[in-house]
Amino acid sequence: MEPRLTDPFNRAIEYVRLSVTDRCDLRCTYCLPEGFRNFGEPEHWLTFDEIERVIRAFTELGVRRVRLTGGEPLTRRHLPELAARLGALPQLEDLSLSTNAVRLKKFAPALRQAGVRRVNVSLDSLRPERFAAITGGGKLDKVLAGLAAAKANGLQPVKINMVVMKDVNDDEIEDMVRYCIEQDFTLRLIETMPMGDTGRSASGHYLSLELVRQRLAEKFELLPAVMPGGGPARYVRVAGTELRIGFITPISQHFCATCNRVRLAADGVLYLCLGQDDKVELRPLLRQGADDAELKQALRAAIAHKPERHEFREQPQKIIRFMSQTGG
Ligand code: SAM
Repeated sequence: MEPRLTDPFNRAIEYVRLSVTDRCDLRCTYCLPEGFRNFGEPEHWLTFDEIERVIRAFTELGVRRVRLTGGEPLTRRHLPELAARLGALPQLEDLSLSTNAVRLKKFAPALRQAGVRRVNVSLDSLRPERFAAITGGGKLDKVLAGLAAAKANGLQPVKINMVVMKDVNDDEIEDMVRYCIEQDFTLRLIETMPMGDTGRSASGHYLSLELVRQRLAEKFELLPAVMPGGGPARYVRVAGTELRIGFITPISQHFCATCNRVRLAADGVLYLCLGQDDKVELRPLLRQGADDAELKQALRAAIAHKPERHEFREQPQKIIRFMSQTGG
């Protein structure tokens, strides 16, 4: 067996977030600017063969989880075919999807069949007008239909990702808690990160989730809880219900010491940290005929340069790329 990927800070890398496109059918205020056109060229996107090759190499080096993300992954044509190919990799234990769910109603059955087990769905508001304002015109009813399809097709658990923004949607957190109790979903609250100009301007609405937790504790009895999934959220359970609420606090309490992941962008750039510029371009290697040993050597060399932590607080200006370009 080959030695598993471990970075200089003794963190085992067992999770790849795989962006299959930088395009998205929504324009969330904190993510992509309205009218943004500067997308990558589809011919630069890794093909399904190339993606499968990289992910296979990763699994042979110890990666056990892959999350399909983007941009909006459901806008990439034939995504279920890619999911099926990755789902068939013998060492991959967990294949999941992050989506805005706009197109999930159509794709949920094929994705489930392809081996996707669970989904994370972005949902920042349950009010149609506010949802449209946050997402640049998104239709809430499509997302709700997508969520219903996820449930009906046994994608489990469904985790709702809510980016909490002061004076934008922080008055809706309790409604979201009740909705998730009713629907048997998991709720994850996320602090806004200063990624790109959009993320930075939205940071003006930053709200520490510690405050949110205190507010929630006045309304609900919160018990400590755990949730499988390998992610950075710290969970509580709402007493008397099955609802788990996760707090993802990259700003107020970062979780870099337990980081287990890297991000492969649609164009084959491997980002070693969401909040740093360190990266390695895999596409030239793949297209110049590198063999598997060379590919794995490149992955090892990349992980040897994984930064210790992000500096969203110390250097909020640093990351100019948008979340959708890295693969959120
Ligand atoms: N389109 C898919 C989705 O909606 O889940 C996957 C990609 S999206 C970039 C992944 C996640 O990143 C979403 O939950 C989104 O809310 C979050 N996100 C984007 N920009 C962010 C920012 N500046 N701060 C915090 N979260 C952000």
